[in-house]
Amino acid sequence: MTRKKQFKAESKRLLDLMINSIYTHKEIFLRELISNASDAIDKYYYEHAGHVSPDQFEIRLEPNKEARTLTIIDNGIGMNKEELEENLGTIAKSGSLAFKEQMDDESKNDVDIIGQFGVGFYSAFMVAKDLVVISKKEEEPAWRWESDGESGYTMEEAQRDGHGTTIILSLKEDTEEEKYSQYLETYELKELVRKYSDYIRYPIHMNVETS
Ligand code: ADP
Ligand code: MG
Repeated sequence: MTRKKQFKAESKRLLDLMINSIYTHKEIFLRELISNASDAIDKYYYEHAGHVSPDQFEIRLEPNKEARTLTIIDNGIGMNKEELEENLGTIAKSGSLAFKEQMDDESKNDVDIIGQFGVGFYSAFMVAKDLVVISKKEEEPAWRWESDGESGYTMEEAQRDGHGTTIILSLKEDTEEEKYSQYLETYELKELVRKYSDYIRYPIHMNVETS
C-alpha cells in the first residue's frame, strides 16, 4: 500500500496556479524539464570529474501517442527517496518561489511573468494531468513518485537501470484552446528544443514515432 502524502501549503498554491494557468506559453514546461535534466547531468559530471567523459550523457525525449505520454529521461545524478520528497514535494526553489510571489501580486497579469525566470518542475502540470518520476542515485534503490498535482503524491520503490531520472507526463485531453497532443509530435518537440534549449550542452535525442 502506498499512502498519499499532501503537498506543503505553499506548494499547493503554486500547483493550483500551474494547473489552472491560462498562460499561453505552456510549452515552456519542456525548457524547464530539459534544464533540470541538464543540471542533474552537470552534478553527476562534476561529482565524478576526471572519471567520466561528457559524451556518455544524454537527455532523451520519448513521445508515445498510443499512451498519450511524453517521457523525458536523463542519466544525471538522480534523486533518492528523501530528495524526491524534498525537491518535488516542496516549493523551496528559487525559480518557483519567485513565480509564486509574482502571481500573488495581483497588479501583474500572468502573461508577462512566466517567461522571465525558471518556473521549475511544477510547470509540467500546465500540460500533464499526471506525472510519474522514477529516479535513481548510484548505489541506492530507485524510487517512483507520482502525482496528479491536486491530491498530493505517492512514493514507492521502483526499478531503474542506472542512475538518472525518468519523468513521464500523461498529457491532458485536448481542448478548443489548447492542443496538448502537439507535444507528442516529433517536429513540434524539435522546434521547442531549438527555440528554448539550444544552449544545452548535452545531446538531446528523440525517439521517432513510427505509428
Ligand atoms: P530549480 O531547477 O530552480 O532548482 P525546479 O522546480 O526546476 O527548481 O526543480 C526542483 C529541484 O528538483 C531541483 O533543484 C533538483 O534538485 C530536483 N530535480 C528536478 N528535476 C531533476 C532531475 N531531472 N534530476 C535530478 N534532480 C532533479
Ligand atoms: Mg529547474
